[in-house]
Amino acid sequence: MSGTFVGMPAFPKAAHEAVRDTTLRANLKHATHTIRDKRARAVAELDDWAQLREAGKQIKDHTLRHLEHYLVQLEESVTAAGGVVHWARDAAEANRIVTELVRETGESEVVKVKSMATQEIGLNEHLEAEDIRAYETDLAELIVQLGKDRPSHILVPAIHRNRGEIRDIFRREMGSWGRPAPEGLTESPAELAEAARLHLREKFLRAKVGISGANFMVAENGTLVVVESEGNGRMCLTLPETLISVVGIEKIVPTWQDLEVFLQTLPRSSTAERMNPYTSTWTGTTDADGPQAFHLVLIDNGRTDALADEVGRQALRCIRCSACLNVCPVYERAGGHAYGSVYPGPIGAILSPQLRGTASEIDASLPYASSLCGACYEVCPVAIDIPEVLVHLRERVVEGGEATQRGTRVTLQPAKGHAVERAAMRAARWAFTHPAALGAGQRLAARTRRLHPRSLPGPGRAWSATRDLPRFPAESFRDWWQRTNGGKDTAK
Ligand code: SF4
Repeated sequence: MSGTFVGMPAFPKAAHEAVRDTTLRANLKHATHTIRDKRARAVAELDDWAQLREAGKQIKDHTLRHLEHYLVQLEESVTAAGGVVHWARDAAEANRIVTELVRETGESEVVKVKSMATQEIGLNEHLEAEDIRAYETDLAELIVQLGKDRPSHILVPAIHRNRGEIRDIFRREMGSWGRPAPEGLTESPAELAEAARLHLREKFLRAKVGISGANFMVAENGTLVVVESEGNGRMCLTLPETLISVVGIEKIVPTWQDLEVFLQTLPRSSTAERMNPYTSTWTGTTDADGPQAFHLVLIDNGRTDALADEVGRQALRCIRCSACLNVCPVYERAGGHAYGSVYPGPIGAILSPQLRGTASEIDASLPYASSLCGACYEVCPVAIDIPEVLVHLRERVVEGGEATQRGTRVTLQPAKGHAVERAAMRAARWAFTHPAALGAGQRLAARTRRLHPRSLPGPGRAWSATRDLPRFPAESFRDWWQRTNGGKDTAK
């Protein structure tokens, strides 16, 4: 993965700062609660939601199990339809390929469809360093780009901004990127949307190169699919002469018919719509219609390493709907920037440490960015057991162990700063395998309960600073069980 966000403080520090920002918390609370309620209603309309969820999970699992087969089939289909397929092992390779493709057109400007993959590899920053200007055309991405900001949500990257802030950004910045904001622009949604429409229109009409991602790629016929709400993506996909699509290798589905499942579950999970307003599909090139040159850049960037992890690989099922973000109590308070990645929220907490490894401070902290309440699993339309993967990754951080990095099996060392946790877990393991000692310890702890401190000393202070230490019961469950004959004598 690109190092764009790495170098940020670890999650607890970044989140600590974020929760003090009352405007941010108010913006996030309003937005996430509105969308989560709408989503619940949209999902409840479908009697077969559970079957659709299971079907989505199975299609994705099947595809991931046979990824090498479907990738080759996809390459053949795209090539037969007039496209050119490029393979990129990592972010640097993908950025180099895209830059060369743009240079070959002789252009120095591109218009972009909203794309997580291009954010993941830091494409805009790379193009800028190569004197190529990339214009984001999704409304929320435009706000982020004009505000020199970072995205904080998968679907609504500017979710942390309110209308007044957006109006100020438009007034201040639009002029230096193209058509300025109209005089007297207010914070009315209609006026803001019109200002963006006018600003973007001239970009669409001038652009010779478009860059996109894709929500899905169909192996059997080489078709790529983008779903969106605004229609700006469709302008980028149809007007330029050259289209470059940068897509993660896990976005494949085997057949056209498989889309039937995801085109029902994705819009309801993400925007609570029964169907997304714009579904664009394109297959290679067609004479005198749409882009006359089509390039597909398939990126690995840590995905095959994640695929090698039997527990963690389920993260590759993700269809980026963002439902898990909208229900997450941690995301709601900390906001997206604290995750230090373009993938925030629960999916970011499991995806980033797999794509980037757990060596950096921020990546080692991400599996802890959760209360493990399980709300993310409940809403996930492809049934990714995010809490299971979080616990799995916590174990990797604390204990180290086997993992795959750049295709090679390696033994990871435990991350720094977890010695106390490791010792505590070993002590717990010993105690649970020595019942007599455990019982004696529980009785001693019960008798001395009035002397227990309300917070932990030393390295445990960080843990108890944000939690109430639970009070020890006067009697352990085991003693109660023996005294009452398994509860049968309690009535006497
Ligand atoms: S993990 Fe599931 S809920 Fe979260 S974005 Fe991905 S598909 Fe949606």
